[in-house]
Amino acid sequence: MMQAETEKSNHYIFAESEMADRTRQYDWAATSLGPISSWPVSLLNTVNQILDSSFPMFIWWGPDFIQFYNDAYLQILGNDEKSKHPAALGQMGPVCFQEIWEVIHPLLSQVLSTGKPVYLEDQLMPIYRKGVLEQIYWTFSYNMIRTANGEAGGILVVCSETTNTMGCQQQIVKKQEEQRKNDFMSMVSHELKTPITSLSAYLQLLESKSKKTQDHFTTNAVHKSLSQVKKMTTMINGFLNISRLESGQIQIDRETFDMALLLREIEDEFLVTTNSHQIKVTTPCKHLLFADRDKISAVINNFITNAVKYSPAGTAVEVSCEIVKDVLQVSVSDQGAGISDIDKHQIFKRFYRSDTAAAGLVSGFGIGLYLCAEIIQHHQGQIWVEDNVSGKGSVFHFSLPVG
Ligand code: ADP
Repeated sequence: MMQAETEKSNHYIFAESEMADRTRQYDWAATSLGPISSWPVSLLNTVNQILDSSFPMFIWWGPDFIQFYNDAYLQILGNDEKSKHPAALGQMGPVCFQEIWEVIHPLLSQVLSTGKPVYLEDQLMPIYRKGVLEQIYWTFSYNMIRTANGEAGGILVVCSETTNTMGCQQQIVKKQEEQRKNDFMSMVSHELKTPITSLSAYLQLLESKSKKTQDHFTTNAVHKSLSQVKKMTTMINGFLNISRLESGQIQIDRETFDMALLLREIEDEFLVTTNSHQIKVTTPCKHLLFADRDKISAVINNFITNAVKYSPAGTAVEVSCEIVKDVLQVSVSDQGAGISDIDKHQIFKRFYRSDTAAAGLVSGFGIGLYLCAEIIQHHQGQIWVEDNVSGKGSVFHFSLPVG
């Protein structure tokens, strides 16, 4: 635009802002609107009003929906090289907002033909911003701008982006859903515990009775039943722990205990219950640790149970414990198929199971290692699995600070 024209525009557009400058300097003569001096007063007044406002405002004017907007609206469009700004100024609506024109055009036509405003809250209108299609929520109103003789001249848009508020609300809803699921899981687990405890008590009674009468068949059957009940109890406790954990109720009750003794106890238990594998535990001499004994025991049990579950019968499962620098490290290795590099990064996540495990070949819920990781983290320790070396099986470790 020529210098003289810009100076003339100063008599029509008064605000001092980036968009006021751009509006003054724009070559309006090249558009269907013509130079500013020829604009209808209603348009000029409305343009001056929006340019002065700190609230995001926008105008679509005339049959071509020629656009105007203020600095606050500019912030919504974004100000990088991929943004709709500054091209959006003076541009035609259907060109600028191609991606949503089909949705908004009927609304605009309705406002222009009836003169009645439209007000919508938290509407999802995806628009291209910073070069990508963003899912953006808006609260906005469309009001008709009338010309001096009362006819429809254009549309004034007052809007605000509510994406953040909506994002927060969605998060709150998601959290509430999670909470409900947790409460349900916790309730079911609690309810299951009572019958299982009495089932276990009756089975133990039966076991001692059948031993006395030397009823070998019953003794054997009851022994197997008891080991299934134990599996069920472990699962239920797992679910209970998950719901406790997710509602922030997990408690670490530290006490001083001897790790060597704990490992020997675990070994004894596995020797009684597992005859499919050779479980070898290399215990250190006495080593005192200040940690939650039951929970650390659950982690070791989980490592060994998994090693047994995921390796062929007849192979060895080795458990060792050593002090490396100022940490105590427990390792469990097996001679199974090992863990793929992809699974390696996922197995400590809640409900994650490898494809083979999930295919129903081995039962489980994918919560054991997640709980182990949480327990170890609550102890400021580390948990990891070694890189897969073909034919070597897997090696799981955790370490805890000592002293
Ligand atoms: P679950 O055994 O109930 O599926 P976990 O959380 O204990 O749940 O284990 C998660 C997944 O990690 C398992 O589904 C399995 O794919 C894999 N995994 C765990 N331990 C081993 C192991 N020793 N060898 C091979 N894969 C394992």
